[in-house]
Amino acid sequence: QLADSLYIVNGFAQQYFSKVLLEEEEGQDIGLSYLKERGFTDTVIRKFQLGFCKEARNAFVTEAIAKQYNSELLVKSGLAAMRNDELVDNYRGRIIFPVHNTTGKVIGFGARIIKKNDRAPKYINTPENEIYIKSRILYGMYFARQVIDKFDECLLVEGYTDVISLHQAGIENVVASGGTSLTTEQIRLVRKYTQNLTIVYDGDAAGVKAALRGLDMALEEGLNVKLVLIPDKEDPDSYVNKVGPDAFREFVASNKKDFIIFQVEVALKDAGNDSQKKAAVVNQIAETLSRINKAEDFTKQQDYIRQCAQLLKIEESGFNNLVNKFI
Ligand code: ATP
Ligand code: MN
Ligand code: MN
Ligand code: MN
Repeated sequence: QLADSLYIVNGFAQQYFSKVLLEEEEGQDIGLSYLKERGFTDTVIRKFQLGFCKEARNAFVTEAIAKQYNSELLVKSGLAAMRNDELVDNYRGRIIFPVHNTTGKVIGFGARIIKKNDRAPKYINTPENEIYIKSRILYGMYFARQVIDKFDECLLVEGYTDVISLHQAGIENVVASGGTSLTTEQIRLVRKYTQNLTIVYDGDAAGVKAALRGLDMALEEGLNVKLVLIPDKEDPDSYVNKVGPDAFREFVASNKKDFIIFQVEVALKDAGNDSQKKAAVVNQIAETLSRINKAEDFTKQQDYIRQCAQLLKIEESGFNNLVNKFI
């Protein structure tokens, strides 16, 4: 009941915001020109149903109230907020990115500020409600799922604009996590379509750490995880805009690294010559490998045990025993 009302008000809001962006002067002058400046084409702007929320206090709220949507629902949906007894738009002056569920219904929004500043967050997202449950959402899955199935691979990026720019470059098997580490539910959603997950993140420490946190869970769910690190301060969106679609595809294809092997290399580098730290690394990798389902992926686990023992410069049979101690 409430869920149905939320779908309906979100659908209404999406159409309203898109109309403002595409057909009204304020939307065109501020929103559309911003998106064009970033290089987004009309095709992806329409495909992803992008929109713009006017700068006025309550332009959307006024339309919604006129259409009989009640204020409780508008607050619950995150589209509006109550300020001093007045209902005001929550996404004023922002670019609107609708978030769809896997059947294509709008379940929420990301709203990006036009000019970054220190007072306001860059993105505002829909608060958790009956239909917007963050831990289950992967942005772009509605547009990606058939292509993920076809190519038997899912690319994972951080942000909305990464997904959209890659689509524009012809790479459509891509979803975004919103910058946080993956949850079990998100991993299971990917697992419905493919076993092969390729994380395409910027190389900064935060990005990689976030990605690493999801690794053990991904292994438990039987995913093969690869990693591509985007160079120097770029993200997939800025990098594909910089080098072009062909060079970007080539970069991804030739820089895919096995995520477990990557983890071993990073940890070994961190440990340096410290033998205590090195022992901790051996233990940690053994635990990670123990997450691979032995019954289903015995050969895969054995392969990793051999490769990792070599990298760690320890004897294979002893390492094998250690892995089995964690199971
Ligand atoms: P843009 O290219 O428009 O600057 P981005 O996706 O590169 O956006 P990042 O700063 O890399 O932005 O953040 C990655 C993702 O994390 C965003 O797409 C958004 O989903 C989420 N995010 C970023 N900043 C915030 C914030 N202040 N509050 C909530 N979520 C955020
Ligand atoms: Mn980052
Ligand atoms: Mn980014
Ligand atoms: Mn970006």
